[in-house]
Amino acid sequence: MSEAAGSRVTNGGAQQVDVAVVGAGFAGLYLLHRLRKAGFTTIALEEADDVGGTWYWNRYPGARCDIQTIDYTYTFDPELEREWKWSEKYATQPEILRYLGFVADRYDLRPDIRFNTKVTAANWDEATERWLLETDSGATVSCRYYIMATGCLSAPKPPEIDGVKDFSGEVYFTGRWPHQGVELAGKRVAVIGTGSSGIQSIPLIAEQAAQLTVFQRTPNFALPAHNGPVSADRLALLEGDRASYREQARWSLAGVPLPQQTVVSWQLSEAERRARFEQAWAKGDLVYILTQLWADQAVDVDGNARLADLVREKIREIVKDPETAAALTPHDHPFGAKRPCLDTNYYATYNRPNVTLVNLRQEPIKAITASGITTDSRSFDVDVIVFATGFDAMTGAIMAVHPITGRGGKSLSGVWAHGPETYLGLTVSGFPNLFMITGPGSPSVLSNMAVSIEQHVDWVVDRLAALREAGFSTIEATETAQAGWARHMADCSMLTLHRLANTWYTGANVPGKAQGVMPYTGGVGPYRSICSEVVSRGMLGFRLTGPNGAEQCNDGEIVRLQPDVRLVLNMLAEMNLPPIESMGAEGARAFVAEFNKGRPAGRPVGEIVDGTLQGADGPLPYRLYRPATPGPHPIVVYFHGGGWLLGDEQSDEPFCRDMCRRTGMIFVSVGYRHAPDHRFPAAAEDGYAAAGWIADHAAELRGKPGPVMVAGWSAGGNIAAVTCQLARDRGGPQISGQLLLCPVTDCTFDRSSYTDNATGYFLTRALMYWFWDLYCSPADRTDPRVSPLRGRLEGLPPAFVVTCEFDPLRDEGVAYAEALAANGVPVEHLKARGHFHSSFVMVDVVITGVSGRVRMAQALRQFAGLPPQSEEVRLGRITSPHAIAAE
Ligand SMILES: Cc1cc2nc3c(=O)[nH]c(=O)nc-3n(C[C@H](O)[C@H](O)[C@H](O)COP(=O)(O)OP(=O)(O)OC[C@H]3O[C@@H](n4cnc5c(N)ncnc54)[C@H](O)[C@@H]3O)c2cc1C
Repeated sequence: MSEAAGSRVTNGGAQQVDVAVVGAGFAGLYLLHRLRKAGFTTIALEEADDVGGTWYWNRYPGARCDIQTIDYTYTFDPELEREWKWSEKYATQPEILRYLGFVADRYDLRPDIRFNTKVTAANWDEATERWLLETDSGATVSCRYYIMATGCLSAPKPPEIDGVKDFSGEVYFTGRWPHQGVELAGKRVAVIGTGSSGIQSIPLIAEQAAQLTVFQRTPNFALPAHNGPVSADRLALLEGDRASYREQARWSLAGVPLPQQTVVSWQLSEAERRARFEQAWAKGDLVYILTQLWADQAVDVDGNARLADLVREKIREIVKDPETAAALTPHDHPFGAKRPCLDTNYYATYNRPNVTLVNLRQEPIKAITASGITTDSRSFDVDVIVFATGFDAMTGAIMAVHPITGRGGKSLSGVWAHGPETYLGLTVSGFPNLFMITGPGSPSVLSNMAVSIEQHVDWVVDRLAALREAGFSTIEATETAQAGWARHMADCSMLTLHRLANTWYTGANVPGKAQGVMPYTGGVGPYRSICSEVVSRGMLGFRLTGPNGAEQCNDGEIVRLQPDVRLVLNMLAEMNLPPIESMGAEGARAFVAEFNKGRPAGRPVGEIVDGTLQGADGPLPYRLYRPATPGPHPIVVYFHGGGWLLGDEQSDEPFCRDMCRRTGMIFVSVGYRHAPDHRFPAAAEDGYAAAGWIADHAAELRGKPGPVMVAGWSAGGNIAAVTCQLARDRGGPQISGQLLLCPVTDCTFDRSSYTDNATGYFLTRALMYWFWDLYCSPADRTDPRVSPLRGRLEGLPPAFVVTCEFDPLRDEGVAYAEALAANGVPVEHLKARGHFHSSFVMVDVVITGVSGRVRMAQALRQFAGLPPQSEEVRLGRITSPHAIAAE
């Protein structure tokens, strides 16, 4: 199907190739190499007169990479790696440009690159199933596949200030710096913008200029690069085992081989946190400080603030003038939500007598005049203005090709009017055979781009080769897949703090641009595994067509789980555990106890007390969690999960601690008797007896006398529901509300969630069968004390029912919530999309469970007649956007 043997020019003048690549930066060069090796005819079109992309255009003083160069490099060919040695930890622009030139020559890529050629429009011709590209030189190219390797940061943002053309001095843009360099010695220079380019160039400009005035709208966090020779320990790691070093980078979160942190900030003392921070500050490694201090630094506002405060301290220490220090200190975004910059002497530059900082938040620029810049309160005469105002990131260069017309004459700018939508960040529904490298929706700028680019290019070229092999000529993302990717992107972006900052990641730096987190925030490794899964599931989400009506479409969404749930389930799958039901009761208990040892312990509460209460047939242990606030507090009687068989009063400790903190209530977790030694109705009767005992002893437990509430997860939810029915029928205790988290409510297994989620989501159908068999004989199973759905439901306390989409117990939970409502019981029902049976009890592991617990806590406080707790309101600020949408 491809024009295998070299490109051709048709009568109409268009050059005919299999694949046209736009751009000759990191991505375009590797594409050319791979496409040629795969036997495709190809050409790259490049606006510049040489290769290099970013490193061709950005020649401003101080331009360097901010990922260590031994990581920011091609890894596809070990020979190439051996032949090129980087001279510095962070290479300068000239060195990176030389490297890309070396790569172009080594693989003889230049003959297939048409320089000084800007692609201006692209149109899909449905009849021939080819793209026709138009260029500014008038030449056209016809191709089967059109790949935009146009770069995320390649379209400089035009200045938003009036009067630039009136300025009589020199004007430069960091992103289009003159090749011959700029003479700044003895001149009065203004730099507008303090993003990465500004922060890199300001110290060097200050050394040359007579006077430098920096105009800053938004301060940025910057960290010392401590540049120098390539880091010896890193080099030793790389050279020790190059293949595994590179592989680790490919599966990491950011594309740099660093492990995932597990310790959270509140588990460390202040001194420990400071020590970690100082070590990171001394290291001069952006990815290290962004990921290695503590596990909650990027996902939790409090964990992040602990780090941001330490960086702010450093700024105050370095900058001598307190007013300038204050103006340079960011307070409007979490650390890392906007890309922090690596600098050399940035903050110290403001101690120089020839440098002035103008805070545009206090005195905005009114105009640029012939002689300089006028703000609300002052005028600055300058000879040179340098715009370091950044880029129209991620979509700028793509949208600059206009129009890109896909199927049915639809234009990409129209389709993206409200923000970019893609499948995998690589393709767009309605635009067959169009690919983007590091497009919006890919990890791109949140990663080491060299690693991401290689992954994207490999994936795309491998797919094109596979299509050719299978005889297909078009490939196009389906709308379902694309909408699913948007949902997954939104779920991911709720996990990190990027959404809390107005940045070029979200389009906020360009007036009028649609807002939203554009890069994929789920991490490089997870993204890679998703791309592989698309292939292993038969090109899920793509429609492929070929001659004579050949068609294949395996429609669907690639990720329906919450991103952290997916990671947890993948991790469990990798452990290849034997089925729990095969372990026997004792073995299963030992396994669960061991398993629980590895989880985060949960945050501190005021007090934890162990005691004994009176059950239905003797004493039972309990564990009480008391809030740190002054009491007496309302009491929640809690029943742990474990299929009436596993767990104990301590086994849901992280959940109890978390809920105790969020509700401001005492949680008493009951150690009810377990099967198989104590079969039905032991657990139910113990639950009921425990609730009565706790209500009777409320004062002794230093709780608030009066009605109690009940709560439980899984089989514990079953016991909580049953306790409410028994309390109503047996004259007490008084129960003011029930929280049922993924409860067992019925003894039949024919609801569809038992089939849909039979395996693969930790709690399996087979395990549930085993639990039932050990707890309850078939003859007893319709008893409402084990199947509360079959009981009388009128007159029960108000309920908050949580069901999870990927849980065998989902539908019986739904049925119970509906039945309660139908019987006049006030019910709130949280249908947790993308969650599994254990999501909400895996505190500090499944981060997306937080908003669900916030709602549970609100419900419990409402049951107790209390207003929302202030801390909860605060947490709500952090977590409410986690939106576990009800279906
Ligand atoms: C100052 C700076 C420092 C950076 N440091 C790092 C770093 O340390 N680590 C990191 O991972 N990333 C860094 N980046 C991001 C960097 O852009 C990528 O790492 C990488 O260089 C992107 O390569 P690319 O080939 O995808 O795009 P680019 O290098 O941007 O190349 C795109 C090319 O496409 C061409 N082009 C665009 N539109 C058209 C058109 N219509 N017609 C013809 N040609 C077109 C452009 O001229 C350009 O040459 C940095 C970016 C900047 C600006």
